[in-house]
Formats: sequence, structure tokens, C-alpha cells
Amino acid sequence: MPGEPQDDCLFCKIAAGHIPATIVRETDTTVAFRDINPQAPTHVLVIPKVHYENAAALAAAEPAVAADVLREAQSVADDEKVESYRIVFNTGSGAGQTVWHAHAHILGGRGLEWPPG
Ligand code: 5GP
Ligand code: ZN
Repeated sequence: MPGEPQDDCLFCKIAAGHIPATIVRETDTTVAFRDINPQAPTHVLVIPKVHYENAAALAAAEPAVAADVLREAQSVADDEKVESYRIVFNTGSGAGQTVWHAHAHILGGRGLEWPPG
């Protein structure tokens, strides 16, 4: 069924608590945890608990949960006291996506160049 946990998905395992992560926030529908390979002083991933391969698939199937992910991004920024930050949804391997479970990168705490690389 769409959205069901996948046995072979790293982020489903983190959401279920089967793989440890430094969790900073959790709601009924989302989990936020620190990226294992941080690219900025604040680098937190916000994931939906449901499994979709990218943000667009999540938004198409469960728009309310996609909105929850965006709301949590702001809450993470508030908790981390970063006024300016970037939300990144890498989509497709050419854009650097390596985990096929929708996730928002929240990056902040340093200067962020525009345009990004
Ligand atoms: P993507 O490259 O798909 O946009 O982002 C995946 C992110 O997950 C990467 O930034 C990577 O560092 C992070 N990551 C990969 N494996 C783990 C892990 O086991 N724990 C945590 N906390 N982050 C991970
Ligand atoms: Zn998953």
C-alpha cells in the first residue's frame, strides 16, 4: 500500500526507532534528526513517517503530511535559533538524492550561497 514502511528503507527504520539517530523533534506524522554528515552547523533532516520516494510523491498522495514537513522545518529553525535557513529536497540521483524516502534538509548557521551548487 502507498506510504507503508519499506523493509529496506533506512529512513523508515529511523522513523520506527530500529536504527538510532539524534532525534531533535517528533510529531504524529514526522521525525526530525541530525544528518550524519552535516554540511552546516545546523543540518537536520525532516522526514514523514510514511514512505514516499520523494517530496513530490508525498505531496501528491498526502498533502497534509507534506505541509507538516514544511511546518516542522520552521520549528527546527526556531529551535536551532537560525533566522535564515535553506530547505532542500534533492530529487533524483542527478541532484544528489541517495535515500529514497522523502526528506527535507534544513541547513543553517552559516552563509548560504545563491545560486547553490
Ligand atoms: P540525500 O542525499 O538523499 O538528499 O540525503 C540523504 C542524507 O541522509 C545525506 O545528507 C546523508 O548524510 C544522510 N544520512 C545517510 N545515512 C544516514 C544515517 O544513517 N543517519 C543519519 N542521521 N543521516 C544519514
Ligand atoms: Zn522509507
